Amino acid sequence: MDIHKPRYTPMSRRRRIYEGKAKVLYEGPEPGTLIQHFKDDATAFNAKKHEVIEGKGVLNNRISEYVFQHLNDIGVPTHFIRRLNMREQLIREVEIIPLEVVVRNVAAGSLSQRLGIEEGTQLPRSIIEFYYKNDQLGDPMVSEEHITAFGWASPQEIDDVMSLAIRVNDFLSGLFLGVGIRLVDFKMECGRLWENDLMRIVVADEISPDSCRLWDIKSNEKLDKDRFRRDLGGLLEAYTEVAKRLGIIVEGERPTGTGPVLVKS
Ligand code: UDP
Repeated sequence: MDIHKPRYTPMSRRRRIYEGKAKVLYEGPEPGTLIQHFKDDATAFNAKKHEVIEGKGVLNNRISEYVFQHLNDIGVPTHFIRRLNMREQLIREVEIIPLEVVVRNVAAGSLSQRLGIEEGTQLPRSIIEFYYKNDQLGDPMVSEEHITAFGWASPQEIDDVMSLAIRVNDFLSGLFLGVGIRLVDFKMECGRLWENDLMRIVVADEISPDSCRLWDIKSNEKLDKDRFRRDLGGLLEAYTEVAKRLGIIVEGERPTGTGPVLVKS
């Protein structure tokens, strides 16, 4: 390797691999790695509602880093390697399984609507649901039958995904409970990671207030993307509150990433 070569290719020259609603993936510095860049875009209702909320990407990068680093630390395999800067993290390249895996502890959102269960009702046990990742179809809910019949994942992979989902749910529930937040539900994605000839399923994408429902234990105040979906306002303040409670940002630190603010690693 040429020692004079910059460690990271400047933004403008990086190859863009994929652009989603809230993130961009760039080619990484080494084979098998990617750079995940968090944008400030907020979308809902299959991108029919769209806004730019300055600073959201910075907060999600930090909160997702915190969650994924801790998952790695307790032996839950993830794609996360390390955070690079305010908006970017280095991740392992995986083959994303085209499923949104939703874990629910308390009734809310589409579950409440579909089954007529009042929001806030504690569920008899955690429930795992699968949605097929397809924007054109509006991410329809699917069963294990659909997943195996159409070859999106094998029965063994579904088992692996479900056991990861339970471990992530247990970890997140405890993490948030400790800072006075109820984990109502969350969405995660998994990917296939190849190491030589061995393949394993790892947690991928992001876990942040964009993909979780987080309610203050005492007041039931929403500290998640429902503030945007339901036009409640105060999204940035809510995400900042989550980051503060987790000890990610300290009192007085500027939450938004508009200037060259040095971040603590
Ligand atoms: N979720 C997500 N992305 C999606 C759909 C849902 O991150 O495309 C998350 C959402 O934030 C919530 C959980 O998955 O924490 C369950 O969402 P639900 O099925 O209730 O859908 P919604 O009410 O958002 O339509």
